[in-house]
Amino acid sequence: MAIHAASALATTDLLGLSPAELEQWLTARGEPRFRANQLASWIYQGLVADFEAMTNLPQSLRERLATEASIVGPRLRSEQTSRDGRTRKVLLELVDGRLIESVLMLYPPSPDGRGRVSVCISTQAGCAYGCTFCATGQMGFERHLSAGEIVGQVLYLARALRDTPWTGPDGQTLDSISNIVLMGMGEPLHNYDNVLHAVRILTDPRALSLGARHITLSTVGLVPGILRLADEGLQINLAISLHAPNNAMRLRTMPITRKYPLEEVLAACHTYARRTHRQVTFEYVLLAGVNDAPEHAQELAQLVAPLRQLAHVNLIPVNATAAAYRPPAGEVIRAFRDELTRGGVSNSVRAERGDDIAAACGQLRTREPQGATK
Ligand code: SAH
Ligand code: SF4
Repeated sequence: MAIHAASALATTDLLGLSPAELEQWLTARGEPRFRANQLASWIYQGLVADFEAMTNLPQSLRERLATEASIVGPRLRSEQTSRDGRTRKVLLELVDGRLIESVLMLYPPSPDGRGRVSVCISTQAGCAYGCTFCATGQMGFERHLSAGEIVGQVLYLARALRDTPWTGPDGQTLDSISNIVLMGMGEPLHNYDNVLHAVRILTDPRALSLGARHITLSTVGLVPGILRLADEGLQINLAISLHAPNNAMRLRTMPITRKYPLEEVLAACHTYARRTHRQVTFEYVLLAGVNDAPEHAQELAQLVAPLRQLAHVNLIPVNATAAAYRPPAGEVIRAFRDELTRGGVSNSVRAERGDDIAAACGQLRTREPQGATK
């Protein structure tokens, strides 16, 4: 392990470089500019993990790349697939042995549209914010992921899907990623620079070329980060983990409320929606007997009302972790939704996905022996 980490750390992780940076990296080594396009095309369209496969690069360059650079990305530690085969969750090992989770979710085509492939990726090992219902939060903070480690998760899953595509009942095959959600382990706005750099690489036309509108960043509500993101000129979707309709209740499950009360978070969302013309999604984890009463729904509707049609509430029945929270019964969820609808708030319930493989972030890692992370 130590040898692997030391040799990998001595090389440049090309997955953390934008195509423009790749160009600089190559020209600094006396290579012509156009090699960057060739290299990026092998990495992002060819999805290769080995320089030797890059047959249009001179052998001497391939050898140099193999000693000075890396495109392998995180390695598989363990994997789980849901019974219906549509959710694949992987536990990945970083160069220093730390473990993170990423999830591939396949959505078969609906009568009105094409199928989608969404990946949920991590931005940190652990998390500093300690939300009481969250398995990652209970681990504490370990470290930020580099931009290359964030991009590397997407590439890992893109390669896995290419190797094992999914064919639906109607014969349509899903073999490439269409959406990315930054909702895995960690708080993306706490690792702002690396996350933004990764987003710029993933959206670069010469790299993965994903539309910014197909990327969603979920945050616990770090106000300065939301305001900074509003000025990036990027139309990525913002999701806010609200999970309570007032500060007193939110403080019991989300300690960050002390630093950034709901009023400030909502004001920042307003700014984000105005600047980007994007709707803001409010995630609301439903915890039975805690935040799921009809009056909580009314309070929630009032809280988001100033955003009007720019707000959407996504209800998420809690995934039971080690903490003693349980999801509410179906009729309680329906009553909650009815109140939101009555209050004029657009809403949905997150389809339960891969419940049989413990889909909530941090849960797969919690079950794994932790020796390698120390
Ligand atoms: N740190 C960011 C993004 C990662 S968490 C954030 O908090 O938004 C992604 C989402 O999963 C958040 O909305 C989070 O509240 C939710 N989540 C955490 N634990 C959960 C659980 N046990 N069941 C359901 N959702 C959970
Ligand atoms: Fe961190 Fe998000 Fe989990 Fe809260 S919900 S502990 S912010 S990962």
